[in-house]
This record gives sequence, C-alpha cells and structure tokens, in this order.
Amino acid sequence: MFKSQIGGLALNRRKWPEMGPEWSPGPENRPPGMPRPFSRLWDRSRGPGRPQVGPSWRQDGHLETVWGNSLATYLFSVRDLLESHFSSAEVNGWWAIIEPELVKTFAKNGKTDFWESQVSQLPSIRNSSLDVGSVVEAKSSDFVSRLAVDNIQAVLKNLKPWRKGPFNYFGIDVDSEWRSDMKWARIAPVLGSLQNKKVLDVGCGNGYYMWRMLEKGASLVIGIDPSILCLAQFRSLSKYARNVPIGMIPVGTETLSEEMAWFDVVFSMGVLYHRRDPLSHLTELRNILKPGGLSLIHISEPTRPERISYGGFCLKKK
Ligand code: SAH
Repeated sequence: MFKSQIGGLALNRRKWPEMGPEWSPGPENRPPGMPRPFSRLWDRSRGPGRPQVGPSWRQDGHLETVWGNSLATYLFSVRDLLESHFSSAEVNGWWAIIEPELVKTFAKNGKTDFWESQVSQLPSIRNSSLDVGSVVEAKSSDFVSRLAVDNIQAVLKNLKPWRKGPFNYFGIDVDSEWRSDMKWARIAPVLGSLQNKKVLDVGCGNGYYMWRMLEKGASLVIGIDPSILCLAQFRSLSKYARNVPIGMIPVGTETLSEEMAWFDVVFSMGVLYHRRDPLSHLTELRNILKPGGLSLIHISEPTRPERISYGGFCLKKK
C-alpha cells in the first residue's frame, strides 16, 4: 500500500515536469490526481505577500458586515441592554467610538474565530440557570446528559487559561489560577448592598465579580475588558443564565467618553497599576460615574499572607 502510493507520486511527478518550481497551484486549482509537488514552496508562498483570504471587508469597521455572526449578535444584545437603561443617543455615541475598535481588535487577534467557534459549540441545556455564591455555578433542574457535559468540558479546556474563578459548569470544576472569591470576601462586607444600582466593572476579566455584583442586587452589571478570551469565557457561562441584566464588551477604559455619566458604582480592581498613566485612569472612572456615584478601586492582591502590598479606596463623585 505504502509502496504503491510512492509509485503514484513518482508517476505524477513525471507527468507535470514542465510546470517548474514556480508553478505551485493551491488545492483549488490543482488538477485532479495531481499531488502537491512543491508543497514546501507553496507553503512559503503563503507568507506575508499572500493575498488575504476573503476579508478585505474586515477593514470597513462595521460589525454588521464583519461579524454577521454570533459574536456581533451578542454585542448588539449588550447594546440593547444599555439602551434599555440609558439614552439611545448616548449609547449610540459610545457605540460609534467602540465599533471600529472592536473590529480592529477582533481582526488583529488570530484566535478570535477559534474562541468564537468554541462558544458556538456549547450545547444548550434545558432549564439551566446560575447559582451564584463563592463558586459561580451553572445548573439545571433537568437531566444533563454525559455527552453534553463532555462537550462543555472540551470547550472549557479550549478556552484556557482560566485566570479568575471558581466556576462550576454542571459538575465540571474550572480550576482557575486565582481564588477570586477570597478577594470578594474582603470587599463585600465593606461594600454594602448594590440593590438597584447600575454597576460597571472595569477590567472585568472573565466576569467572575460581575456575577457577584448581580448577587448583591445590582439592576445592571456591565463589564469592559479588552481581552477577547475573557469575553469568550464570560459568554460560555452567561449562555446558561436566563434573563439577567449583565453584559460584557471587549474594550478598554480609553473608549469611555466624558459624556457618559451613567453608573452608580464603578469597580476597578487590579487595573490601576497596569496603566501607564494611573491618574488618567482615575479621571476615566470619574467620567463614567453619575453625580454622587462611587468608584471602588482595588490596587493589588496579596498572594502570600505576609505580603502587604494590597489595598483599596473609594472615590465619590460630587
Ligand atoms: N478585575 C479583575 C481582573 C484584574 S486583571 C480582578 O480583580 O481579578 C487586569 C485586567 O485588566 C485584565 O483582565 C486586563 O485585560 C484588563 N485591562 C488591561 N488594560 C485595560 C484597559 N485599558 N481597560 C480595561 N481593562 C483593562
């Protein structure tokens, strides 16, 4: 069997000698039966000069055209959520700023499509809901098949690394790098209730704290974080929640404009010290608050009990 394949290849080589090394058709142009005689060259021809497959439309800056898919659909659902809480004109003003940014970020990140395909592959589970406590848990009152659980587990593995958690999906424990519940346990007692508050979580990561904010009674929780992987992780869980006023958009705080005094409470946890200009970060947080609103800024995290480089403070907008 192996021998005859080799023989076939040699025969075909002889059949196409006149083409020369420059001639290197792709699979779509290769005549039937012709092997890939110059596969090495062909591979090289796929370098920087190679014409892009399809997406010159990726540059037009509109989500409708570019991502007429589940990712765009999701983001538009978050825009709808924002419009149900704030003025359409203001929401659309912000959208005009972030839409080209989103398109650029998605096109730039080579894994956007892969992560999106993973989220799309998650099976629907009847009667699923989230149970929020130290562990944020997706559950169902119905029977969940072994096959569905296996499929979910495969997707979650493809969405690694899981930095923040803990999460549990229908019995699958997500082994996150950080125990975010421990940080929340320190913050929650000083925070009081978030009842009916509109909350923004800046640098929300995969959204662990956003669920905890919802648990505290917030009427709207929006998270922003430029990480597309974090968005995929967030969506992998929010898929199993029902009718919750929560949404994430993968943009940075730089996109927040001065006209957006929308939120009662803004969290910025573990972000300030990543910023080159921390003062402008504080200004961004201030801009997005309603008058009288509160910003909670957490500035580091103890990784060992003896380490004391952590703390937080609140700023109130007049
Ligand atoms: N708030 C979470 C995550 C902190 S890690 C927690 O306390 O555990 C810092 C996060 O900030 C990362 O997820 C990173 O993607 C995000 N980030 C970095 N630059 C940002 C920016 N300009 N605007 C918003 N988020 C940013």
